[in-house]
Amino acid sequence: MRYYSTNRKALPLSFRHAVLKGLAEDGGLYMPERIPAIGFPSGTAFQEISYEVAKCFAEPEVPGSVLRGMIDEAINFDAPLRKLSDQIYVLELFHGPTLAFKDFGARVMARLMSYFVRGLNRELTVLVATSGDTGSAVAHGFLRASGIRVILLYPAGKVSLIQEKQLTTLDENVVALEIGGTFDDCQALVKQAFCDLELHRSVQLTSANSINIARLIPQCFYYWYAMAQLEADPGSVFISVPSGNFGNLTAGLIAKRMGLPVAGFVAACNSNSVFPHYLRSGKFEPQPSIQTISNAMDVGNPSNFARMLALYDHDVYKMRKDVYASSFSDTETRAAIREIFKRYGYVADPHGAIGYLGLKKFMENQPDGARGIFLETAHPAKFANVVEEVLGQPVEIPERLKECLSKEKKAVPLSNRYDEFRSFLLSY
Ligand SMILES: *Cc1c(COP(=O)(O)O)cnc(C)c1O
Repeated sequence: MRYYSTNRKALPLSFRHAVLKGLAEDGGLYMPERIPAIGFPSGTAFQEISYEVAKCFAEPEVPGSVLRGMIDEAINFDAPLRKLSDQIYVLELFHGPTLAFKDFGARVMARLMSYFVRGLNRELTVLVATSGDTGSAVAHGFLRASGIRVILLYPAGKVSLIQEKQLTTLDENVVALEIGGTFDDCQALVKQAFCDLELHRSVQLTSANSINIARLIPQCFYYWYAMAQLEADPGSVFISVPSGNFGNLTAGLIAKRMGLPVAGFVAACNSNSVFPHYLRSGKFEPQPSIQTISNAMDVGNPSNFARMLALYDHDVYKMRKDVYASSFSDTETRAAIREIFKRYGYVADPHGAIGYLGLKKFMENQPDGARGIFLETAHPAKFANVVEEVLGQPVEIPERLKECLSKEKKAVPLSNRYDEFRSFLLSY
């Protein structure tokens, strides 16, 4: 399988090169040249299903036995589908080490990169600037990956206590740099390092950002697994995806193109409503991001939109047949957290609550018998401040988070000056 750039100027690449490159030279995102159609996976275990989906994109470049091993190691936690009512189900994607769905993509990507750099005689350095969540999923994904070290940059005093603990208690091949500056400063330092050709002679750098195709593909796995867990029933099924950068939804649309028996998707957004606006008007008009309580979705210019356009031949009419979109305010999100708890006794985080709202609004116009699944993308304990305030009661903290909270923070403080960061990279 080859991978083309959505800007269509750079040449198509093998899977290996697309993964190691991340972003194409023409600024486009990589997409598989063909979306293979498959039958319903024969396995029922999550890892078996994941492997059956992954092999369509990665074999024969990654031999079957190697791929199977990677999947077994990376997908070593469940994604249970829970029934809230006869119409509403929730797919829990927060059972990984950092309690958010980004663990799926990050863990598989780390193993693929590690495999692809094997045999290079130099260690690869992954630089990640993070404002919180993505960085911890990526860093955990790469923990103990051979031949790779990870350097995380985060803005001092600007991430939550939980996030900081998740970033700074990893050790081994992961180093956290506490930068005296903003998230933008962290990003600027990473960018400058990538442009510093002199530095590249001594340090081999790569990025593991969210647009890497190796992070997208694993997100197809749980859509298949969700359908495998749903009791068979002739009615239509819709899936609502809380969306920010639209990687999660794009993976769902790819799964549908592969043959996933789902009737359609709901793109559920917070006040950052560039995509709902596009579906209505046919115009894509990026905006500065707006801060909300579902902050992992505060994206004003979603990068995976390019992939969605590629999937639907740039045709908004075609896209509308598969996707419905809506957006909700923080007030509505808070009310939804309360409603989900009151009606179903279920504690949702602000992102999942938006998924619920999107689903509920859409299902109002569907015939009886239609069923819907919303994705719960983070554990509520990650957003305990919001959830506890809304519900007026404490949120249960999972064991793996408690453990990390009790560990000692280890971070190297640095200023936001490039020369300081550069010397660190050279001396480390
Ligand atoms: C990243 C994230 C999202 C948004 O996912 P996209 O793929 O960027 O649309 C939603 N919820 C949580 C908890 C996230 O971390």
